[in-house]
Amino acid sequence: MDYLLYLSLAIFGLIFGSFLNVVTIRYNPDKGFSNIKSIGGRSHCPNCRNQLAWYELVPVLSFLSLRGRCRHCGHAISLQYPFVELLTALIFVVVPMQVILSSRILVLVDVNAHIGGIIALAALWTVAFVLFLVLAIIDFKHMIIPDSINVSLAVLGIAIAGVTQWVHGFGAFQGSFLRHYAVIFGFRDTIWMNHLFAAIIGLLFFGGIIAVSRGRAMGWGDLKLAGALGLLFGWPDVVLVFAFSFIIGSIISIGLMMRGRKHMKDAVPFGPFLVIGAVMVFFFGFQLVSLYFGMFDVI
Ligand SMILES: [Zn+2]
Repeated sequence: MDYLLYLSLAIFGLIFGSFLNVVTIRYNPDKGFSNIKSIGGRSHCPNCRNQLAWYELVPVLSFLSLRGRCRHCGHAISLQYPFVELLTALIFVVVPMQVILSSRILVLVDVNAHIGGIIALAALWTVAFVLFLVLAIIDFKHMIIPDSINVSLAVLGIAIAGVTQWVHGFGAFQGSFLRHYAVIFGFRDTIWMNHLFAAIIGLLFFGGIIAVSRGRAMGWGDLKLAGALGLLFGWPDVVLVFAFSFIIGSIISIGLMMRGRKHMKDAVPFGPFLVIGAVMVFFFGFQLVSLYFGMFDVI
């Protein structure tokens, strides 16, 4: 039963992923998402403009059977296509899995009594992850984070806080991916104050970085995303999201500089790193924090 459900979600994810490819490839930084429809029409090879037949549009399988080249002109097809399709399928399977898994741990009473809320949480987080993926691709390519995505993430954060409050309530264990470690950092009176506080911390922290670096290290898009992540993750989870994004960002930036691909003055988009931080906290927040505290014998 569960296998069938997750298999259907994976197939739906593959199809939705090829839609996300169209959205991100046709995205225009000046016009936003509005011109996606106007370009419209059937998909075609960007090199020879030949329209693609239905059997060239099957997610992943087409790419494999064509060996990554256009059937007409032999032009290499971007690896983004199968990569995003597979990643979307993965999102559609593992995000609901993780929501259900953590609900089993958190809901000490009957899981079935809360099934509606848990499905709602799984759906809301899946949408958030799809937006994370689109945001990361667009920021990577165009060095911009669309306002529409940041606003949508903020709205999702409010919705997720509301449903979490309804399903789990809010307290020592509930509403944090760090589980009981969250208690150490306090501020757990109400979920609304907690998530609002996290958003303000995010805005102040990134506002500070922008002020100190005079806008060279971060952009306004990163600041807005930090606020939205605060609403989504709450306190103290959001601090860990930022910490991981800075650690991964530094490692990759130094790596690029050492290989001569980037220099100190080159701008590196930070949105993808914030997304990686968010993914790490969502899936491994508790494990990573217990590993850390385990080093100091704190349980
Ligand atoms: Zn072609």
